[in-house]
This record gives sequence, structure tokens and C-alpha cells, in this order.
Amino acid sequence: GQASEKPPLKIYLAGPRGFCAGVERAIDIVDLALQKYGAPVYVRHEIVHNRYVVEQLEAKGAVFVEDLNEAPADKPIIFSAHGVPKVVPAEADRREMFYIDATCPLVSKVHREAERQHKNGNTVILIGHDGHPEVEGTIGQLPEGAIKLVQDPEEVWQLEVEDPERLAFVTQTTLSLDDTMDVINALRERFPTISAPKQEDICYATTNRQHAVKALADKVETMVVVGAPNSSNSMRLVEVAKKQGCDSFMVQRAEQMDWSRLNGVRTIGVTAGASAPELLVDEVIAACREHFDVSVEEVRVTQEDVQFKLPRALADAAA
Ligand code: SF4
Repeated sequence: GQASEKPPLKIYLAGPRGFCAGVERAIDIVDLALQKYGAPVYVRHEIVHNRYVVEQLEAKGAVFVEDLNEAPADKPIIFSAHGVPKVVPAEADRREMFYIDATCPLVSKVHREAERQHKNGNTVILIGHDGHPEVEGTIGQLPEGAIKLVQDPEEVWQLEVEDPERLAFVTQTTLSLDDTMDVINALRERFPTISAPKQEDICYATTNRQHAVKALADKVETMVVVGAPNSSNSMRLVEVAKKQGCDSFMVQRAEQMDWSRLNGVRTIGVTAGASAPELLVDEVIAACREHFDVSVEEVRVTQEDVQFKLPRALADAAA
């Protein structure tokens, strides 16, 4: 029959993949705010870096803006999961806006660590990617110039600091574990007394998704990452696979699949960034079934049971 003419394709699903607790919470916050206060509810920046999620929420009455001054003062506004510089809630207070902060608690933890180190008189070095909203948010926790951003070991060697004995570092939550270790090693080599965070800043979800990709990379010919180019943790998954010698590419939706990349390929891995809904993974698998005789197996490296509490303003709406 028709089906037997399709070439076979084994799909290994990486576990864990997709939504983390911070993303689930942020999306719940927008949903609950729409229920409690009615549309429109404003959101500063993409609530999480996924077009599909944003469009679903827009259809329910969420309005996404990049800047606070694009939002009226008499409607609720939500800050995205990536966190915001301190000037943003300050400006919202000045305009007497009602805001709800959907910053992931694990990002807030890094903010507090940076503040603590600054209060202790240390210069704070942030390892992260220039221009990412989380990096802008973390830098914006302290007075201008108090945080120095480094992106790679080269920048560590070029860094100019006032007092090499009074330094601490923090990191973005969604970095490559291996690349970050290289930067931290360079920092420790150059500044042996530098203070490290009490607990790793790279979050559990980033860590687990990278471990899952590594576990699959030797098993498969190609790794398909469902995610978005502006999603840091998704981009890192593509890099982690490639570093293990596995061909890898990203798609936001199944329609973007470049089937020529799977020519002659018999085994692929499929994973998804922390902001990509499982529905989009299902969509990619369904699309594969149109081209191949597919069998699916999940390879799970660990279970996750992290959950975060909702902001107080919305706890009643959730009940
Ligand atoms: Fe929070 Fe990590 Fe998810 Fe970012 S990736 S929202 S830090 S749990």
C-alpha cells in the first residue's frame, strides 16, 4: 500500500522538552488576568518567546507592546517572564498603573543575588548575551555601570575592573552549560577571589533540556528543535546538538520544516525550547508522518516537578 512506500523514520523525543514552570506560570498569569479584569490586558514584550503563544493570547484580548508608554494607564499591564529593569515598575508606579510581574522566580533570584553582591561592595559581572531582554532586566537592577556584561572568555581577558579583589558574577538563566563553564573558568583564572552565586543561575529547565539533547545526540542523525530564534534556551539546544557532532536545525512551526535536510535520514531527535508548546511538537511529528513511516520513542533523562506560585493578585482567580 501507500504507507509502505514511505521511507522509515525513527523519532526520538527528548525528555524533558518544552514548557518550563516559569513559562507555564507566565502564560497562566495572562490568561487569568484576562479572565479577572477582562480584555484588553497589556503585556510588555512577548510574554514568552513564542509567536504561537503570543497569537493565541492576542486572540483572547492581550495586547503586546515593547514600551510601557505604548500602554494606557487605566488598563492592567503584565511584565514578561524575562524580567524588567527597575525603571519599568518605577515608571508604572509614577503613572499609577496596575501591573502584574510575570518575571520567572528563577530570574528574580538572579536579580536579588546581583543586588546582594552590589550591597556587599562587589562589582557584579554578568555572563549573558547582549541585547536579550533578561540581560537588560538584570543589568537594570543596579545603578548604571554597576554591572559589567561578558559574553565569552575573550571578553573576560579584556575586562577592566576597579578592584579585582571585589568581584562577583551572576549569569543569564538560559545559557549553554559548557560555554558558561569556559567563561567562569576564565574569570576564576584571572580573578581567583571572585564570588560565585550560592546556587547555579542557569535554571533547572535549561540544564535538563541540554542534558536530554546530549543524551540523544549520539543516537540520531539530525536534531530538530522546535523553538524561536529569539528564544535563548532554544538556540542553545541547536548549538549543544551541533557541538556533539549532530546536524541540527530549528523550526517555529511544522510548515518551516526543510524536508531536504531529512533526505536519506533514518533517525531524528525532536526537542522543544522552554517556551514552545507541546502542540507544536505534535504538529512536527504529524508532518513527518506525511513524508515517512514514523515510529516514536521518548528518551527521558529526568522528571521535572517544579511549580511556581501565582502572584497574589491572581491567586483568587485561579481558585
Ligand atoms: Fe524560568 Fe528557566 Fe523557564 Fe526561564 S527557562 S522561565 S528561568 S524556568
